[in-house]
Amino acid sequence: MSQARIYLDHAATTPMRDEVAEAMRPYFFENGYNASSLHAEGRRARAAIDDARARVAAVLRCKPSEIVFCSGGTEADNLAVIGSARARGPRGRIVASAIEHHAVLRAVESLRAEGYGAQFLPVDESGVVDAERFGAALDAQTLLAAVMYANNEIGTIEPVAELAGIARERGVIFACDAVQAAGALPLDVGMLGVDLLALSGHKFGGPKGAGALFVREGTPIAATLHGGGQERGRRSGTEDVAGIVGFAVALELAESERAAYVRRTAGLRDRLEATLLAIPGAKGNGKAAARLPNISSVSLSGIAVEPLLIALDLEGIAVSAGSACATGSLEPSHVIAALRDRSERRDRREATLRFSLGRKTTEAEIDRVGAVVPILVARQRESAAAPV
Ligand code: PLP
Repeated sequence: MSQARIYLDHAATTPMRDEVAEAMRPYFFENGYNASSLHAEGRRARAAIDDARARVAAVLRCKPSEIVFCSGGTEADNLAVIGSARARGPRGRIVASAIEHHAVLRAVESLRAEGYGAQFLPVDESGVVDAERFGAALDAQTLLAAVMYANNEIGTIEPVAELAGIARERGVIFACDAVQAAGALPLDVGMLGVDLLALSGHKFGGPKGAGALFVREGTPIAATLHGGGQERGRRSGTEDVAGIVGFAVALELAESERAAYVRRTAGLRDRLEATLLAIPGAKGNGKAAARLPNISSVSLSGIAVEPLLIALDLEGIAVSAGSACATGSLEPSHVIAALRDRSERRDRREATLRFSLGRKTTEAEIDRVGAVVPILVARQRESAAAPV
């Protein structure tokens, strides 16, 4: 009998939940109309979007009018960064952490190409942005700061409330990518004090291609998509009613199960790390910091990552090297590079694996992964040492 596959790549994406698919279904078929139409069919679609918006706002504890639905985390991050910078003016500086997702980093770089200034803040060896350093980076020209809530490769949680407070004092807009945090950390935007907060449905059991950006009332934002003026002119395009409904249902479910999910996955993650970090030459990335419960990033010295990933895949285990978000790239990760000092970066040949657990991950799966990885690592080391 073939062995069941073990999926530990939930930070890349999560399978859609049955409840979400069920809630979305009518909006593909009998209710699949355009919410801008004035007829009864259109009004039904509009009502579903209004309801979804209210439900998302309840999780974020904000006003429904502060939620902009869009096509996912990448668009939400782009709208936050590019939309707020352009709305503030044609010039100015943007400060972002060096370990942001490419959806933020490349949006900042595109602004740099338009003539804005940009500064990428280093992080400590656990991946945490230092508040003092952050404050010092905000000068009179700075219009926007972007620091993620939790990192997608190593799971490190950033001191967002503290950083947002500093930005607020200086009159700097604070944008936060909360794509990996949803379902694991509180999303109360009042408590966090952020001006912009990006979410993506497929990271918490919702559909891919559905996301949302919280835009605090009064925060200037220029649309990046122009057209029919949907989403109060902040994001044109016929609304994906099914996607929006699915996003809201998934977010509500994730929020209601959050405490139990955190307890359960953190326990499994620790169990996994107890075996993985006992491998000679293994290092747990971000381990000294507060972390998401479901991500474990382990670097293994002297190991080539690609053969290890392939060997794991053949064993039925799906994980990523660092991050999967850069279209399957096995380039050294900018996040891992940011944790290492220069000499370490030069000298070290290492493989970084990201194990990301989900709501259905079991102890038996964790134990099998914990048994297989050390064997594959030892095998690779032996074959590298063998004379040819
Ligand atoms: N931000 C973070 C932290 C992510 O992990 C991802 C994942 O891909 C994104 C943004 C992009 O989200 P999406 O895949 O919905 O475009």
